[in-house]
Amino acid sequence: MNRVHGNIRISRKSHMDQMKPYGKYRESLRQDFGRICGYCGKSELVTKNSFEIDHFIPQRLAPEKEDDYSNLVYSCYECNRKKSGKWPSEDKNVQFIDGKGFVDPATEEYDKNLMRDEEGNIIGITDAGKYMVEIGFEFDKRPMKEIYRAMLLIEKRHQLEEKIKMLSSKEAQQYIEFSIAVQRFQEILFDNKE
Ligand SMILES: [Zn+2]
Repeated sequence: MNRVHGNIRISRKSHMDQMKPYGKYRESLRQDFGRICGYCGKSELVTKNSFEIDHFIPQRLAPEKEDDYSNLVYSCYECNRKKSGKWPSEDKNVQFIDGKGFVDPATEEYDKNLMRDEEGNIIGITDAGKYMVEIGFEFDKRPMKEIYRAMLLIEKRHQLEEKIKMLSSKEAQQYIEFSIAVQRFQEILFDNKE
């Protein structure tokens, strides 16, 4: 069993000047979360849907935390949709009922509740973890292992491209330069939500 987020360690900057609206935190949050979804670990590189800013305690229960950096999570489109306004209680201070609830992915607690199996599925190892898998984010109904495999392959492809560029024929070098150029454009389109 591995960490959901592999080698990436998520932690929010502890000293942030208050900014409004919370969208201004986007770039800072993105850095703190290593350009992956805090919840499912999906990299920006494997999705065409732009990432969003989730309020860990939903806004309907804690409107005063709307611009509170410590309550923000860099989230993929799908995790933000699945979580939506879900919270196990109607009280922002009651985070768990019968052990069920959400764990902040920017804390070490996250790894104590969720793990990644060898295939790439996200597994709940506590009641809170199972709640997040089955109800909070529906990881058990989504292609988590395919997302995970795609991330590993993209990383491997990048490493191979670096090597092939040094070694091979002019055509192969051109192919790789095109491939890298396409990826750059994809990143710009992603950043601009196109
Ligand atoms: Zn996600």
